[in-house]
Amino acid sequence: MSYQLTDSFGRTINNLRVSVTDQCNFRCIYCMPEVGMIFQPREEILTFEEITRFVGIVTELGISKLRLTGGEPTVRKDLPVLLRMLAAVPGVQDMAMTTNGFLLKKMSRDMFEAGLPRINVSMDSLDEEKFKEMTRRDVLHKVLDGLEEATRYFQLPIKINVVAMKGYTEDELLDFAELARTGPYQVRFIEFMPLDADRSWTRDQVLDGAEIIERIGARWPLDAVKRPDQREPADLFRFRDGKGEIGLIASVSEPFCGSCNRIRITADGKLRTCLFSIDETDIKALLRGGASDGDIAETVIEAVRHKEPGHHINEPDFVQPERTMSSIGG
Ligand code: SAM
Ligand code: SF4
Repeated sequence: MSYQLTDSFGRTINNLRVSVTDQCNFRCIYCMPEVGMIFQPREEILTFEEITRFVGIVTELGISKLRLTGGEPTVRKDLPVLLRMLAAVPGVQDMAMTTNGFLLKKMSRDMFEAGLPRINVSMDSLDEEKFKEMTRRDVLHKVLDGLEEATRYFQLPIKINVVAMKGYTEDELLDFAELARTGPYQVRFIEFMPLDADRSWTRDQVLDGAEIIERIGARWPLDAVKRPDQREPADLFRFRDGKGEIGLIASVSEPFCGSCNRIRITADGKLRTCLFSIDETDIKALLRGGASDGDIAETVIEAVRHKEPGHHINEPDFVQPERTMSSIGG
Protein backbone atom coordinates (compact mmCIF):
# COMPACT_ATOMS: atom_id res chain seq x y z
CA MET A 1 0.00 0.00 0.00
CA SER A 2 1.24 3.50 -0.74
CA TYR A 3 2.34 5.85 2.06
CA GLN A 4 -0.23 7.88 4.02
CA LEU A 5 0.82 11.06 5.76
CA THR A 6 -0.91 10.92 9.13
CA ASP A 7 -0.76 13.20 12.15
CA SER A 8 -0.85 12.27 15.83
CA PHE A 9 -4.64 12.75 15.92
CA GLY A 10 -5.19 10.19 13.15
CA ARG A 11 -5.94 12.74 10.44
CA THR A 12 -4.67 11.77 7.00
CA ILE A 13 -3.10 14.64 5.10
CA ASN A 14 -3.62 14.57 1.33
CA ASN A 15 -3.97 18.24 0.48
CA LEU A 16 -1.21 20.82 -0.05
CA ARG A 17 -1.78 24.53 -0.50
CA VAL A 18 1.07 26.09 -2.43
CA SER A 19 1.54 29.82 -2.16
CA VAL A 20 3.33 30.95 -5.31
CA THR A 21 3.78 34.61 -4.32
CA ASP A 22 3.04 36.88 -1.39
CA GLN A 23 2.41 39.81 -3.74
CA CYS A 24 -1.00 40.99 -4.81
CA ASN A 25 -2.66 43.53 -7.07
CA PHE A 26 -5.51 44.10 -4.55
CA ARG A 27 -5.45 45.32 -0.95
CA CYS A 28 -8.53 43.68 0.59
CA ILE A 29 -9.42 45.19 3.96
CA TYR A 30 -9.57 41.79 5.69
CA CYS A 31 -6.18 40.71 4.35
CA MET A 32 -3.66 43.47 3.61
CA PRO A 33 -3.01 47.01 4.78
CA GLU A 34 -3.78 49.81 2.34
CA VAL A 35 -0.13 50.85 2.16
CA GLY A 36 3.17 49.66 3.53
CA MET A 37 2.87 45.94 2.88
CA ILE A 38 6.36 44.46 2.88
CA PHE A 39 6.97 41.62 0.45
CA GLN A 40 9.66 38.96 0.41
CA PRO A 41 12.67 39.74 -1.79
CA ARG A 42 12.59 37.76 -5.00
CA GLU A 43 15.52 35.53 -4.07
CA GLU A 44 13.61 34.29 -1.00
CA ILE A 45 10.71 33.03 -3.12
CA LEU A 46 10.85 29.39 -4.20
CA THR A 47 11.64 28.87 -7.86
CA PHE A 48 9.39 26.77 -10.09
CA GLU A 49 11.95 23.97 -9.90
CA GLU A 50 12.00 24.07 -6.10
CA ILE A 51 8.20 24.05 -5.84
CA THR A 52 7.97 21.17 -8.30
CA ARG A 53 10.64 19.17 -6.48
CA PHE A 54 8.84 19.64 -3.17
CA VAL A 55 5.51 18.63 -4.70
CA GLY A 56 7.18 15.53 -6.16
CA ILE A 57 8.44 14.57 -2.70
CA VAL A 58 5.12 15.05 -0.91
CA THR A 59 3.09 13.23 -3.53
CA GLU A 60 5.22 10.18 -2.63
CA LEU A 61 3.92 10.69 0.91
CA GLY A 62 0.27 10.65 -0.14
CA ILE A 63 -0.46 14.27 -1.07
CA SER A 64 -2.68 14.10 -4.15
CA LYS A 65 -4.51 17.44 -4.14
CA LEU A 66 -2.89 20.80 -4.79
CA ARG A 67 -4.30 24.29 -4.52
CA LEU A 68 -2.28 27.23 -5.78
CA THR A 69 -2.79 30.42 -3.90
CA GLY A 70 -0.98 33.46 -2.54
CA GLY A 71 -0.96 36.52 -2.44
CA GLU A 72 -2.45 36.59 -5.87
CA PRO A 73 -1.15 33.58 -7.81
CA THR A 74 -1.80 35.09 -11.24
CA VAL A 75 0.73 37.89 -10.64
CA ARG A 76 3.56 35.36 -10.43
CA LYS A 77 5.48 35.73 -13.69
CA ASP A 78 5.01 32.83 -16.13
CA LEU A 79 2.52 31.05 -13.89
CA PRO A 80 1.32 28.74 -16.71
CA VAL A 81 4.86 27.33 -16.91
CA LEU A 82 4.62 26.28 -13.26
CA LEU A 83 1.12 24.88 -13.79
CA ARG A 84 2.43 22.71 -16.60
CA MET A 85 5.30 21.46 -14.43
CA LEU A 86 2.99 20.61 -11.53
CA ALA A 87 0.35 18.96 -13.70
CA ALA A 88 3.10 16.60 -14.92
CA VAL A 89 4.07 15.41 -11.42
CA PRO A 90 2.92 11.81 -11.05
CA GLY A 91 0.59 11.61 -8.06
CA VAL A 92 -1.04 15.00 -8.55
CA GLN A 93 -4.64 13.94 -9.04
CA ASP A 94 -6.33 17.25 -8.53
CA MET A 95 -5.09 20.80 -9.01
CA ALA A 96 -7.02 24.00 -8.37
CA MET A 97 -6.28 27.67 -7.79
CA THR A 98 -7.79 30.51 -5.76
CA THR A 99 -7.65 33.91 -7.46
CA ASN A 100 -9.11 37.38 -7.13
CA GLY A 101 -10.16 37.12 -10.78
CA PHE A 102 -8.56 40.35 -12.00
CA LEU A 103 -6.38 38.62 -14.61
CA LEU A 104 -8.78 35.86 -15.61
CA LYS A 105 -9.87 37.50 -18.83
CA LYS A 106 -6.27 37.50 -19.98
CA MET A 107 -5.04 34.25 -18.46
CA SER A 108 -7.89 31.71 -18.27
CA ARG A 109 -7.11 30.00 -21.53
CA ASP A 110 -3.35 29.72 -20.96
CA MET A 111 -3.84 28.39 -17.45
CA PHE A 112 -6.41 25.85 -18.57
CA GLU A 113 -4.22 24.68 -21.43
CA ALA A 114 -1.30 24.34 -19.02
CA GLY A 115 -3.31 21.78 -17.05
CA LEU A 116 -5.34 23.71 -14.47
CA PRO A 117 -8.88 22.31 -14.42
CA ARG A 118 -10.53 24.24 -11.58
CA ILE A 119 -10.51 27.69 -9.99
CA ASN A 120 -12.17 29.53 -7.12
CA VAL A 121 -12.72 33.24 -7.58
CA SER A 122 -12.91 35.61 -4.63
CA MET A 123 -15.53 38.32 -5.02
CA ASP A 124 -16.86 39.97 -1.90
CA SER A 125 -19.42 42.31 -3.36
CA LEU A 126 -21.57 42.67 -6.46
CA ASP A 127 -21.86 46.38 -5.85
CA GLU A 128 -19.19 48.51 -7.50
CA GLU A 129 -18.78 50.94 -4.62
CA LYS A 130 -18.64 48.27 -1.95
CA PHE A 131 -16.27 46.14 -4.02
CA LYS A 132 -13.99 49.16 -4.28
CA GLU A 133 -14.20 49.74 -0.54
CA MET A 134 -13.40 46.10 0.27
CA THR A 135 -10.61 45.46 -2.22
CA ARG A 136 -9.41 49.07 -2.43
CA ARG A 137 -9.54 48.67 -6.23
CA ASP A 138 -12.27 49.95 -8.53
CA VAL A 139 -12.31 46.88 -10.73
CA LEU A 140 -15.49 44.88 -10.18
CA HIS A 141 -16.22 45.03 -13.93
CA LYS A 142 -12.85 43.41 -14.69
CA VAL A 143 -13.47 40.58 -12.22
CA LEU A 144 -16.93 39.99 -13.70
CA ASP A 145 -15.45 39.89 -17.22
CA GLY A 146 -12.79 37.48 -15.97
CA LEU A 147 -15.37 35.28 -14.35
CA GLU A 148 -17.33 35.06 -17.57
CA GLU A 149 -14.21 34.14 -19.51
CA ALA A 150 -13.36 31.52 -16.89
CA THR A 151 -16.69 29.75 -17.42
CA ARG A 152 -15.53 28.95 -20.96
CA TYR A 153 -12.64 26.86 -19.67
CA PHE A 154 -12.82 25.73 -16.08
CA GLN A 155 -14.90 23.07 -14.40
CA LEU A 156 -18.40 24.28 -13.53
CA PRO A 157 -19.80 25.41 -11.23
CA ILE A 158 -16.99 27.86 -10.50
CA LYS A 159 -16.75 28.47 -6.77
CA ILE A 160 -17.02 32.09 -5.70
CA ASN A 161 -15.52 32.94 -2.30
CA VAL A 162 -17.18 35.70 -0.30
CA VAL A 163 -15.65 36.75 3.01
CA ALA A 164 -18.58 37.15 5.39
CA MET A 165 -18.23 40.35 7.40
CA LYS A 166 -20.85 42.10 9.46
CA GLY A 167 -21.73 45.47 8.03
CA TYR A 168 -20.67 44.42 4.54
CA THR A 169 -22.16 41.11 3.54
CA GLU A 170 -25.69 41.04 5.06
CA ASP A 171 -27.43 43.20 2.50
CA GLU A 172 -25.97 41.28 -0.43
CA LEU A 173 -26.86 37.77 0.72
CA LEU A 174 -29.86 37.52 -1.56
CA ASP A 175 -27.94 38.96 -4.53
CA PHE A 176 -25.24 36.33 -4.07
CA ALA A 177 -27.91 33.64 -3.68
CA GLU A 178 -29.47 34.87 -6.92
CA LEU A 179 -26.07 34.58 -8.63
CA ALA A 180 -25.76 30.98 -7.47
CA ARG A 181 -29.31 30.27 -8.63
CA THR A 182 -28.97 31.76 -12.08
CA GLY A 183 -25.32 31.25 -13.11
CA PRO A 184 -22.79 28.42 -13.25
CA TYR A 185 -21.51 29.39 -9.81
CA GLN A 186 -21.43 27.95 -6.32
CA VAL A 187 -21.19 30.87 -3.90
CA ARG A 188 -19.30 30.04 -0.69
CA PHE A 189 -19.36 32.34 2.32
CA ILE A 190 -16.16 32.27 4.41
CA GLU A 191 -16.34 33.63 7.93
CA PHE A 192 -13.87 36.48 8.47
CA MET A 193 -10.84 35.10 10.33
CA PRO A 194 -8.20 36.85 12.47
CA LEU A 195 -5.48 36.83 9.82
CA ASP A 196 -5.80 40.44 8.70
CA ALA A 197 -2.67 42.55 8.40
CA ASP A 198 -4.27 45.42 10.30
CA ARG A 199 -4.87 43.08 13.27
CA SER A 200 -8.19 44.73 13.82
CA TRP A 201 -10.31 41.54 13.73
CA THR A 202 -12.88 41.19 16.46
CA ARG A 203 -15.40 38.37 16.89
CA ASP A 204 -18.33 40.75 16.41
CA GLN A 205 -17.16 41.58 12.86
CA VAL A 206 -17.83 37.99 11.77
CA LEU A 207 -21.10 37.32 10.03
CA ASP A 208 -21.92 33.83 11.28
CA GLY A 209 -22.75 31.06 8.86
CA ALA A 210 -25.95 30.17 10.69
CA GLU A 211 -27.29 33.67 10.14
CA ILE A 212 -26.40 33.51 6.44
CA ILE A 213 -28.26 30.25 5.96
CA GLU A 214 -31.24 31.51 7.93
CA ARG A 215 -31.55 34.69 5.89
CA ILE A 216 -31.13 33.07 2.49
CA GLY A 217 -33.27 30.09 3.51
CA ALA A 218 -36.11 32.43 4.50
CA ARG A 219 -36.28 33.63 0.89
CA TRP A 220 -35.43 30.38 -0.90
CA PRO A 221 -35.61 27.23 1.28
CA LEU A 222 -32.35 25.31 1.53
CA ASP A 223 -31.48 21.70 2.33
CA ALA A 224 -28.14 20.61 3.77
CA VAL A 225 -26.27 18.33 1.36
CA LYS A 226 -24.51 15.20 2.62
CA ARG A 227 -21.16 15.01 0.89
CA PRO A 228 -19.20 11.96 -0.18
CA ASP A 229 -16.02 13.61 1.18
CA GLN A 230 -16.94 15.04 4.57
CA ARG A 231 -13.40 16.38 4.88
CA GLU A 232 -14.12 19.34 2.64
CA PRO A 233 -14.30 22.50 4.77
CA ALA A 234 -17.47 23.83 3.13
CA ASP A 235 -20.91 22.77 4.31
CA LEU A 236 -23.13 22.64 1.26
CA PHE A 237 -26.76 23.68 0.96
CA ARG A 238 -28.99 23.09 -2.05
CA PHE A 239 -31.93 25.25 -2.98
CA ARG A 240 -35.03 23.12 -2.48
CA ASP A 241 -36.33 24.06 -5.93
CA GLY A 242 -33.18 22.58 -7.46
CA LYS A 243 -31.69 25.86 -8.64
CA GLY A 244 -28.09 25.63 -7.46
CA GLU A 245 -26.09 25.44 -4.24
CA ILE A 246 -24.34 27.64 -1.74
CA GLY A 247 -21.48 26.74 0.60
CA LEU A 248 -20.46 27.81 4.05
CA ILE A 249 -16.97 27.83 5.49
CA ALA A 250 -17.73 28.45 9.14
CA SER A 251 -14.13 28.40 10.33
CA VAL A 252 -14.88 30.64 13.32
CA SER A 253 -18.35 29.64 14.53
CA GLU A 254 -18.01 25.93 13.73
CA PRO A 255 -14.35 24.98 13.33
CA PHE A 256 -13.71 21.89 11.21
CA CYS A 257 -10.16 21.31 12.49
CA GLY A 258 -11.02 17.72 13.52
CA SER A 259 -11.26 16.74 9.87
CA CYS A 260 -8.48 18.96 8.50
CA ASN A 261 -6.53 17.23 5.73
CA ARG A 262 -4.18 20.02 4.67
CA ILE A 263 -0.74 21.50 5.01
CA ARG A 264 0.69 24.61 3.41
CA ILE A 265 3.95 25.77 1.88
CA THR A 266 4.50 29.52 1.85
CA ALA A 267 5.99 31.38 -1.10
CA ASP A 268 9.27 31.62 0.81
CA GLY A 269 9.35 27.90 1.42
CA LYS A 270 8.08 27.45 4.98
CA LEU A 271 5.89 24.45 5.74
CA ARG A 272 2.87 25.25 7.92
CA THR A 273 0.68 22.54 9.35
CA CYS A 274 -2.16 24.94 10.25
CA LEU A 275 -3.37 28.34 9.00
CA PHE A 276 -2.85 29.49 12.58
CA SER A 277 0.52 27.79 13.21
CA ILE A 278 2.93 29.74 15.35
CA ASP A 279 5.87 27.54 14.29
CA GLU A 280 6.90 26.62 10.76
CA THR A 281 9.45 24.32 9.15
CA ASP A 282 12.09 25.72 6.82
CA ILE A 283 11.84 23.61 3.66
CA LYS A 284 13.67 26.19 1.56
CA ALA A 285 16.81 25.78 3.67
CA LEU A 286 16.71 22.05 2.92
CA LEU A 287 15.98 22.51 -0.78
CA ARG A 288 18.87 24.94 -1.11
CA GLY A 289 21.17 23.24 1.36
CA GLY A 290 21.79 19.98 -0.46
CA ALA A 291 19.28 17.83 1.45
CA SER A 292 18.17 14.64 -0.26
CA ASP A 293 14.55 13.95 -1.16
CA GLY A 294 14.55 11.40 1.67
CA ASP A 295 15.72 14.02 4.20
CA ILE A 296 13.00 16.40 3.08
CA ALA A 297 10.36 13.66 3.23
CA GLU A 298 11.45 12.81 6.80
CA THR A 299 11.17 16.49 7.77
CA VAL A 300 7.64 16.69 6.36
CA ILE A 301 6.60 13.51 8.17
CA GLU A 302 7.97 14.87 11.44
CA ALA A 303 6.27 18.27 10.98
CA VAL A 304 2.94 16.59 10.23
CA ARG A 305 3.34 14.43 13.33
CA HIS A 306 3.18 17.69 15.30
CA LYS A 307 0.22 19.16 13.41
CA GLU A 308 -1.88 21.26 15.78
CA PRO A 309 -5.19 19.77 16.96
CA GLY A 310 -6.98 22.96 15.92
CA HIS A 311 -7.12 26.71 16.14
CA HIS A 312 -7.97 28.61 19.32
CA ILE A 313 -9.82 31.56 17.79
CA ASN A 314 -12.66 31.26 20.26
CA GLU A 315 -10.46 30.87 23.32
CA PRO A 316 -8.85 33.51 25.51
CA ASP A 317 -5.35 32.16 24.81
CA PHE A 318 -5.68 32.80 21.05
CA VAL A 319 -2.57 34.32 19.50
CA GLN A 320 -2.80 35.72 15.98
CA PRO A 321 0.08 34.34 13.95
CA GLU A 322 2.81 36.70 12.88
CA ARG A 323 2.06 36.00 9.23
CA THR A 324 -1.12 37.33 7.68
CA MET A 325 -3.38 35.50 5.23
CA SER A 326 -1.59 36.75 2.13
CA SER A 327 1.84 35.67 3.32
CA ILE A 328 0.61 32.25 4.46
CA GLY A 329 -1.41 31.40 1.38
CA GLY A 330 -5.07 31.22 2.28
N1 SAM B 1 -5.54 36.43 -3.87
C1 SAM B 1 -6.33 35.26 -4.01
C2 SAM B 1 -7.77 35.53 -3.65
O1 SAM B 1 -8.05 36.54 -3.03
O2 SAM B 1 -8.60 34.69 -4.01
C3 SAM B 1 -5.81 34.07 -3.25
C4 SAM B 1 -5.25 34.31 -1.88
S1 SAM B 1 -6.46 34.82 -0.67
C5 SAM B 1 -5.46 35.02 0.76
C6 SAM B 1 -7.33 33.28 -0.42
C7 SAM B 1 -8.72 33.41 0.17
O3 SAM B 1 -8.60 33.85 1.50
C8 SAM B 1 -9.62 34.40 -0.54
O4 SAM B 1 -10.85 33.80 -0.85
C9 SAM B 1 -9.80 35.49 0.46
O5 SAM B 1 -11.04 36.12 0.33
C10 SAM B 1 -9.66 34.75 1.76
N2 SAM B 1 -9.27 35.58 2.90
C11 SAM B 1 -8.27 36.48 2.97
N3 SAM B 1 -8.19 37.03 4.21
C12 SAM B 1 -9.18 36.44 4.93
C13 SAM B 1 -9.62 36.57 6.29
N4 SAM B 1 -9.03 37.40 7.14
N5 SAM B 1 -10.64 35.79 6.69
C14 SAM B 1 -11.26 34.94 5.84
N6 SAM B 1 -10.88 34.75 4.55
C15 SAM B 1 -9.87 35.51 4.11
FE1 SF4 C 1 -4.90 39.96 -2.41
FE2 SF4 C 1 -6.37 37.79 -2.12
FE3 SF4 C 1 -5.46 39.14 0.03
FE4 SF4 C 1 -7.32 40.24 -1.46
S1 SF4 C 1 -7.52 38.32 -0.30
S2 SF4 C 1 -5.45 41.25 -0.72
S3 SF4 C 1 -6.82 39.51 -3.46
S4 SF4 C 1 -4.25 38.03 -1.43
